[in-house]
Amino acid sequence: LSFSQLGLTPWLVNSLKAMSITSPSEIQTKCIPEVLAGRDVIGGAKTGSGKTAAFALPILQKLSEDPYGVFAIVLTPTRELAFQIAEQFNVLGKTINLKDVVVVGGLDMMTQAIALSKRPHVIIATPGRLRDHINSSKDAMHLSKVKFLVLDEADRLLTETFADDLGGILEVLPTKRQTLLFTATMTDAVLELANPSSDDADANDA
Ligand code: AMP
Repeated sequence: LSFSQLGLTPWLVNSLKAMSITSPSEIQTKCIPEVLAGRDVIGGAKTGSGKTAAFALPILQKLSEDPYGVFAIVLTPTRELAFQIAEQFNVLGKTINLKDVVVVGGLDMMTQAIALSKRPHVIIATPGRLRDHINSSKDAMHLSKVKFLVLDEADRLLTETFADDLGGILEVLPTKRQTLLFTATMTDAVLELANPSSDDADANDA
């Protein structure tokens, strides 16, 4: 299968060609049509599998069809991963002048707050710092119409370390959205999120 056959629009196929990427990886073949069709996705994929493009490509396509406000939030456990994801979004989204912002700890809060107030298309964040911004200026962040939530490395995100921050973030996002979850391993927490059982009061409603 080609990227076009997966449903990708010509400008994205051309962006990929410019990067010498011509055939989709397994995770991309499985994921891209599902996301374009409007469904939630749980993908088992490690770094190096092409998982970033698997979610970035269909998100960019949907964004180009109907651009407004903050369109997507990508959560990832580390600063380094956040910058790597942003780099791929920037390269692939150049044609549509994608505006994104990386929101991670260790960098100036005020600079990030200004960038967030300008309604970026995509926010790529670690949970703790995004939660800090939500706590200090939720209304300035325009999150009420977010269409996509991506949990990258979900097995690492869905642990005690991030539970509180994730909860605070989910609380302010619209429930009518697509959730895309990528994980190297299917932990109990990931499976629970995928198939919430009614007898578990702690089930996350993402
Ligand atoms: P990731 O798994 O998202 O960390 O991606 C690893 C690397 O593979 C990135 O540098 C991508 O640019 C590259 N890549 C993504 N999709 C493909 C593909 N279909 N064919 C070849 N390389 C790819």
